[in-house]
Amino acid sequence: MRNIEKPKAYLVAKSMLVNEGLNEYLKDIGNPDWEPDKAAADGENLIEAAGRMCYRSWQPYDPSKPEATNPNVGRVRKGNAGYIGNVLKSGHGSILEHVSMTFICRNVSRVFTHELVRHRAGMAYSQESLRYVRLDDLPVWIPDSARANPEAEKKFADVIDFLENAQKEMARIFNFDDLEDFTSKKMLTSMFRRLAPIGIGTTIVVTGNLRSWRHIIEMRTSVHAEEEIRIVCSQIAEICKKEYPHVFQDMSLNDTTGEWVFDHPKV
Ligand SMILES: Cc1cc2nc3c(=O)[nH]c(=O)nc-3n(C[C@H](O)[C@H](O)[C@H](O)COP(=O)(O)OP(=O)(O)OC[C@H]3O[C@@H](n4cnc5c(N)ncnc54)[C@H](O)[C@@H]3O)c2cc1C
Repeated sequence: MRNIEKPKAYLVAKSMLVNEGLNEYLKDIGNPDWEPDKAAADGENLIEAAGRMCYRSWQPYDPSKPEATNPNVGRVRKGNAGYIGNVLKSGHGSILEHVSMTFICRNVSRVFTHELVRHRAGMAYSQESLRYVRLDDLPVWIPDSARANPEAEKKFADVIDFLENAQKEMARIFNFDDLEDFTSKKMLTSMFRRLAPIGIGTTIVVTGNLRSWRHIIEMRTSVHAEEEIRIVCSQIAEICKKEYPHVFQDMSLNDTTGEWVFDHPKV
């Protein structure tokens, strides 16, 4: 058994604003008096631009700019933090869907991945194939709740060792190391994995838009959620807050419970 210290999320990609394209669009609609807020993240300016496009609320009404302004708009809210804060308050969260973040979650179990992939709206997944990857050693994270009890921790380790030996035994039974045909290897690897534990450490790449991440963080850092998914989603919450402080301005950590909570849940 290979002992996993801790499951971990790595931010590997996020949406970016293409300033040239946005500027060209703004020029073509009549140069409204608006520009991206320097204090905001790229993605937050994209969200604001998407929102302002909806109501032509780049600036107060100006009859000389009919495509950029709107006679119904006498004044506009300035600044990205205030603009997004108002979007969150009013629950018009669909514009948050224009920005996405991609994480690699490493050393997470199939318990974790099985729970994560239940989130479908606004999400994309690529998961390590256990049909291809042979399980010579079984990486496993022992939850703190088991580590806290030496007898339980030992039972964990014993069972994993037993299952690891089962993998080796199966490889011996089928003379796996002498096989050359890739299709047979894949078929057998796929069959062997049925004897692997659901706690096996694996990797998943997950992309989600910011509206979905808000929802997932709320549900999966809740005290009612599972130990491992709470750990990983807490890491994701911290990264989200750092990368997009305006979009996550209403999210805070409850130090007592470890939950990340929102003033405006499910926007
Ligand atoms: C503490 C906890 C315990 C759980 N226990 C169980 C359990 O015992 N058994 C079990 O099967 N699952 C369980 N789940 C999983 C849960 O039921 C959801 O499947 C999972 O959390 C995904 O969330 P979601 O449904 O909000 O989907 P998401 O894909 O994250 O969707 C986000 C939101 O979009 C909307 N939406 C998404 N898809 C649709 C749709 N098809 N139709 C209409 N609206 C949609 C909903 O408003 C939804 O909340 C548990 C989850 C948690 C957090």
